[in-house]
Amino acid sequence: MLTQLKVVNPATEETIQTLSCDTEASITEKFAKARAAQALWAGRTVEERVAIIAKFSQLLESNRDELAKTLTSEVGKPLQQSINEVNGARTRIGFFVEQSAKHLATETVFEAPGRVERIAYEPLGLAGVISAWNYPYLVGVNAVIPALIAGNAVIYKPSEFSTLTGLRIAALLHEAGVPKEVFATIVGDGSQGSALTSLHLDGVFFTGSVGTGRRIRKAVADRFIASGFELGGKDPVYVCEDVDVEKVAPAIADGVFYNNGQSCCSVERIYVREAIFDKFVDRFVAEVKSFKMGSPTENGVYLGPLTRSAQRETIQSQVDDAVKKGAKLLTGGKAAKGPGYYYEPTVLVNVNHAMTVMKEESFGPVIGIQKVANDDEAIRMMNDSTYGLTAGVYTPNAKRAHDLLARVNAGSAYWNCCDRVSPYLPWSGRQDSGLGSTLSHLGIRAFTKPKAYHLIS
Ligand code: NAD
Repeated sequence: MLTQLKVVNPATEETIQTLSCDTEASITEKFAKARAAQALWAGRTVEERVAIIAKFSQLLESNRDELAKTLTSEVGKPLQQSINEVNGARTRIGFFVEQSAKHLATETVFEAPGRVERIAYEPLGLAGVISAWNYPYLVGVNAVIPALIAGNAVIYKPSEFSTLTGLRIAALLHEAGVPKEVFATIVGDGSQGSALTSLHLDGVFFTGSVGTGRRIRKAVADRFIASGFELGGKDPVYVCEDVDVEKVAPAIADGVFYNNGQSCCSVERIYVREAIFDKFVDRFVAEVKSFKMGSPTENGVYLGPLTRSAQRETIQSQVDDAVKKGAKLLTGGKAAKGPGYYYEPTVLVNVNHAMTVMKEESFGPVIGIQKVANDDEAIRMMNDSTYGLTAGVYTPNAKRAHDLLARVNAGSAYWNCCDRVSPYLPWSGRQDSGLGSTLSHLGIRAFTKPKAYHLIS
């Protein structure tokens, strides 16, 4: 098991801090304390727990600049994007604060003389939340906040690449009034995560890669516990011939390159109709060339370093594979000069589905743009994937968009937008993109177990 965690600034490659990791003994102790403290937490009213979470949101606001700096220092995203993330987390928390009591209230579903039937939503008990680094506030909030509001104790394992942020989230939750034992944090890597999933949790909620998702699903397979898996994506958009290229190409470029392409719902494949292909590609590449790359703390920088050094090799191997198989590189194609884990924003055309760049998650600043002849071919290409997180269609024609989106195999369907999450809608992947839902009323109830009351008088 990892004993020391080095927190490295990906923009400078310098070690910011070295943290001691949790041990098997400390994980077991946190587990036992959380288990013991949960009933008291669940015994408070939903309104009391919601008020504590609302206070946490205020603390995010009052500490925003410092939180954003810490986030940027460990994951490398431009400071403004870190600020956006903290603000985005507050919006999501606002949804949970406003809606939780309604969806957690006991429902009377049948009433007749002498007989009443009700559904009560009880907390699961002790939930393990294992999280990714790319949006630690957003993916953290998706699980941690509804779990706590529902009355669960939570053991939270932030990613080894965003642990300082994870520890700040914990400190602010405690400051807001969540008892320390009710929200415990585990420091470490996959070895600590694995120790956590070996304990008798009542639910495990994971955000991360498909490979780790599979390992965790297997680890808990012989226990009938609640689980949620928010995994990777290879999200496509289809650009019809009737769009305004001037408007659409820059918007999609942002959907590809925001956060350096390190979003589960980043656009990772673009299909464009032949009639506007060249015009679209020219406008798209011009936009990409206008992106400023540099130190994430510098004003106006849109592309910082990647968070993990090794991702540059994954991206390079996809680019090399594509070029070897006939793709044309229009810009980028290699790591940028260090120090720092920088990779040039990369655009490829003449791509096809024999290339890994069109099939495997890139999770970086690279995109393939493929020509399609008609709507049917576009749908065939979009659905030719082992993933199914989001898919988008760009056309001013509402009926056409509606018909196309009804045919995509994805948890989220976008008309004239991309790379977007709303707290009012369920966030869920299909196929290898995951199982279960966060956000929306489904994501509130995901952290509960129903009890059916048959009341005969
Ligand atoms: P990862 O799978 O490497 O790690 C995720 C977490 O799992 C980390 O905290 C890690 O320490 C832990 N872990 C690793 N091995 C473990 C094990 N055997 N048992 C228990 N825990 C273990 O993923 P990552 O690099 O942090 O995240 C990137 C991935 O997450 C991408 O594929 C991205 O698409 C996906 N993601 C999905 C969503 C979504 O909502 N669908 C959101 C954000 C990120």
